[in-house]
Amino acid sequence: MITVTRDGSSPDERSRLTASSRPDDVPTPSAPYRLASRAAYPEKTVVRVGEARIGAGRPVVIAGPCSVEGEAQIIEAALAARAAGAQLLRGGVFKPRTSPYSFQGLGLDGLPLLARARAESGLPIVTEVMEPALVGPVAEVADVLQIGSRNMQNFPLLRAAGRTQRPILLKRGFAATIEEWLLAAEYILAEGNTQVMLCERGVRSFDPSTRNLLDLSCVPLLGQLTHLPVLVDPSHAVGRGDLVETMGVAGVAAGADGLLVEMHPHPEQSLSDADQAIGPETLRSLIERAERVYAALRA
Ligand code: PEP
Ligand code: MN
Repeated sequence: MITVTRDGSSPDERSRLTASSRPDDVPTPSAPYRLASRAAYPEKTVVRVGEARIGAGRPVVIAGPCSVEGEAQIIEAALAARAAGAQLLRGGVFKPRTSPYSFQGLGLDGLPLLARARAESGLPIVTEVMEPALVGPVAEVADVLQIGSRNMQNFPLLRAAGRTQRPILLKRGFAATIEEWLLAAEYILAEGNTQVMLCERGVRSFDPSTRNLLDLSCVPLLGQLTHLPVLVDPSHAVGRGDLVETMGVAGVAAGADGLLVEMHPHPEQSLSDADQAIGPETLRSLIERAERVYAALRA
């Protein structure tokens, strides 16, 4: 009679394992995300966008409004972001809104406005794309393509993004495990695009006090698991402007390669995510404090 233990091995097999195995002999199971794995590719990926080097050490700040609302607004935001010390401008033209009755963004008409804001400020632009068919048109204008939390597992979109040569900012799905997130990145890498950044933006929790729960532990953990740069978005994580600065600084303390922050020149007038928008002065303070923390941790 063969007796089988609870883990499925026979007592004989188990005693062989424990008698002869040393940790060094046991092969490390290879990660299912082969190209994103740090064990397979130890060298950190550095994503170059304009003057910015994301993953090279000093944290890079991407800032701007949730949505592009008009030419004057996005140019004012771009100049304010640059003056505050941000290195890239963000602004959504395709907005994944929970309600179909909320402002959906300017769509393709918003792209030339982003291009003008880039020309005025010199800041490269980051914008979200939601549909595979629009990856091409958006990639013609944007310097970085953002894939949002709700689309983290939109596999045709990931593949289409992987076929461009633009850097991709891949946000964590609000209910995605780290492994699911890295496998989503793998879809992009597997198509040949090596310029992938991960962005933690909070996961859903039981407590509505904040919009989401910022999982800062993922930052050092991802530093072990993957060579891809990791950013923190405190804005969508907390959902309230009064907590964004502190949690952005905390993201840098945790080792983030950069921050993605929603900043509106007139936060109360924001057409989307007004509650979490910070103004230019708060952004300036956030960046100053984050740089001090980064310098202190290196000292
Ligand atoms: C955004 O960056 O404006 C956005 C919609 O983010 P997320 O996908 O993280 O909700
Ligand atoms: Mn937003």
